[in-house]
Amino acid sequence: MKKIKSKNLSLEQIHALLDMAKKTRNFAFSHRSMHKIWASVLTSDGKIFGGCNIESVISGLGTCAERCAVDNAVAHGYYDIVAVCTIDSAFTPTCGACLQYILLFSQVSNKEIILINGDTKGNYEIKTLSELLPEWYKTQSNLKAIRSYSKIKINRKIWN
Ligand SMILES: [Zn+2]
Repeated sequence: MKKIKSKNLSLEQIHALLDMAKKTRNFAFSHRSMHKIWASVLTSDGKIFGGCNIESVISGLGTCAERCAVDNAVAHGYYDIVAVCTIDSAFTPTCGACLQYILLFSQVSNKEIILINGDTKGNYEIKTLSELLPEWYKTQSNLKAIRSYSKIKINRKIWN
């Protein structure tokens, strides 16, 4: 796999996403599979949030690292997602459920979202969400409410 430059991300942003994803590794709650996935998200404000996979004892209740990273950004009041990065021991594409989940946030910003998939050896590949999910389901209901989150002004300083 070769490193592919950019799609509107700077090399600095790409490395920051990869670094944050690497930091999340030890947080993975992967008691069933022992398979740790690392992720991170870049918002339009330049903030980067990490995520990891969270498994449940009840099948289907776990969360992929990508969705965890997106949820981490949302929990901090950031909805305008620019890029999502995932690192696995071997190159593993983002699953369909996560692609659809991330798609909703492209409707918030009405912009393409960049996906970086990397491995632990430092290789990575950059694609757009529309490349990975060409036949996407975009909701038309509540679109005005969904887009309102791109302009939302809230106090984000409740976190330490
Ligand atoms: Zn997933």
